Amino acid sequence: MSVSRRDFIKRSAALTAASYVGMNLPIGDVNVAEAVDVDNWVRGTCRLCGVGCRLEMGVKGGRPVALRGVPESRTNYGYLCMKGMLFYKIMQHPERLKKPLYREKKDQPFREISWDTALDLAAKGFAESVKKYGHDSVAYYGSGQCLTEETYLFQKVMRGGLQTNNVEGNPRLCMASAVGGYLTSFGADEPIGGYANVERSYCMFIIGSNMAEAHPVFYRRVMRRKLDNPDKVKIINADPRISPTSRIADMHMQFRPGTDMALMNAMAYVIIDENLYDEKFLREYSTFRVGKDKKEVDMAAYKASLDEYTPEKAARVCGGNITAEG
Ligand code: SF4
Repeated sequence: MSVSRRDFIKRSAALTAASYVGMNLPIGDVNVAEAVDVDNWVRGTCRLCGVGCRLEMGVKGGRPVALRGVPESRTNYGYLCMKGMLFYKIMQHPERLKKPLYREKKDQPFREISWDTALDLAAKGFAESVKKYGHDSVAYYGSGQCLTEETYLFQKVMRGGLQTNNVEGNPRLCMASAVGGYLTSFGADEPIGGYANVERSYCMFIIGSNMAEAHPVFYRRVMRRKLDNPDKVKIINADPRISPTSRIADMHMQFRPGTDMALMNAMAYVIIDENLYDEKFLREYSTFRVGKDKKEVDMAAYKASLDEYTPEKAARVCGGNITAEG
């Protein structure tokens, strides 16, 4: 089965739309995959997004021919989104790059070369640069999809071998602010809590995330919780854009791009001002820090740091709309 880009978008949209009305879809090709003739199913985890759905890959003659979710997985309960479900096709797509391509000059077309030649060329280029311009004339830019071992190896080559700290990774572009937030808020570079909290929650606040499209299988759990408890569970979505995620939200807070800090500080202002917090929890598990040097302060000083974030002032900064849906 070949799936065009248009087809993919249509099918993703259909799955998302079905989700809105609570259809308990078997998520498309999962059932198709079960009908495929395979030699064996190999278990693994989808690496396409951070949800971490467990899956099984059907292998025939040493080639991947199907994918299906693992029903007993407590992450995805057998469901996969379109991205994960069609992943196996990438491995055998005729346009997949399997050999190094090289061109001497930018105006020349690429031509295939062997791996040995490619590695020799790369080694020569690095050696010449270091010799001519010094150790910091070279850099490594890695992918977040690299395995831990691959990243470790490259760090050794760059720092230990080529003696430069010019090592960078694309995760910094997507995760740096999140890591900063986790470290300063929770003391560890990890989100706290677990997926199962969704099934115990009565109010969910989603900010800056179009999870309906970016993390569809996890979104499905949020949606299921809402649909099972339409009156008890409230969902607030805060995002400059109205996205498919907004459709199940009771309230969409559409703020001006780049003003999310004002919004969050105004929420903190109201929570403290109206005594909406759990005093025991704050006393036992929280510290307050303010300023660039993250100086530890008491709650009164933290409250004072929020003085300029009254809801009225924040509303002027954030602009936008607040829409309450049914
Ligand atoms: S939500 Fe989709 S892309 Fe993300 S891990 Fe699950 S199947 Fe893969």
